[in-house]
Amino acid sequence: MEGNSPPLLKVEHLSKKYLIKKKLFYKEFFTAVDDVSFEVDRSEILGLVGESGSGKSTIGKLILKLIEKDSGNVIFKGRSIFELSKREEKKFRKETGVIFQDPRTSLNPRLTVYKIIEEPLVVHNIEREKRKEKIIKAIYDAGLDESFLDRYPSELSGGQRQRVAIARAIVLDPDLILADEPTSALDVSVQLQIISLLEKLKKEKKISIIFISHDLNVVGSISDSLIVLYRGKIMEKGRTKDIIKNPFHPYTKILFDSLPPDHPSHRKKINEIPEIEREDIPGGCLFYHRCPIAEEKCKKEPVIKKIHGREVYCHFA
Ligand code: ADP
Ligand code: MG
Repeated sequence: MEGNSPPLLKVEHLSKKYLIKKKLFYKEFFTAVDDVSFEVDRSEILGLVGESGSGKSTIGKLILKLIEKDSGNVIFKGRSIFELSKREEKKFRKETGVIFQDPRTSLNPRLTVYKIIEEPLVVHNIEREKRKEKIIKAIYDAGLDESFLDRYPSELSGGQRQRVAIARAIVLDPDLILADEPTSALDVSVQLQIISLLEKLKKEKKISIIFISHDLNVVGSISDSLIVLYRGKIMEKGRTKDIIKNPFHPYTKILFDSLPPDHPSHRKKINEIPEIEREDIPGGCLFYHRCPIAEEKCKKEPVIKKIHGREVYCHFA
């Protein structure tokens, strides 16, 4: 963190429910994101980890204003993204990029790599003469070269396709990239290459990245700070190295426990965690039903505790 400079992105009490059933006098909602707050500094990688369905992608979409929020705020460069004029909104789009899990579906198969990377430049009215130079720069920055520009996505490997998606995401020089499970569809060796490319972009281009993954192994290796999400709520938040060294929340401990035994963070392994499934307690701790250390007091929802720059949603923290 740098001196007193304000964070690039500030997320305040963000919540989102999805309507899942609608009848004449009855509506049923599902809470996907529940009172989530965090900050992302410039040139920082924030990891967002949690199992499938925990609300990671919903948070990503809310931050990029791809879906409507219910409540809360997102402040990018000091301005609420919900109060932008049309012009400011366009600038916001230019300053943020996105990479999705599967480049097979996120890249248009009918366009050449050149056209794919050119698209955002066209949308943002970059003059034709300037485009080529930017496209070539982006393809090299993404670890490929000019020979790829006239190929089609189907002619590329999974890793190469994801590099094209990255080139497209950085071609407008964004300040923030949302990477939603960017390595989940790739082989482990290719995963590592993409991770080191993202780290390089962070360092060299001072890009901030929100890195979403269900895999703590992946997120733990790339992120500066970490959020552990469960059922739409933050269980634990802090510097990644602090959390790896000493996870506070029982769910974080369980996530570490499921890492392969050769992983360095595995030294914090807790052997005695059994698989417990209790009844959910309405108004109680959201993790009560699976928590190995839950007690009577956990039938009430814990308040978030702040300990040495960490935040933990647990009565025992
Ligand atoms: P993650 O990315 O962590 O897997 P998501 O944010 O995609 O989780 O989804 C969180 C929860 O919200 C899931 O239970 C999912 O089924 C539900 N959900 C996501 N999108 C919708 C939608 N458009 N309508 C209803 N429910 C949704
Ligand atoms: Mg997702």
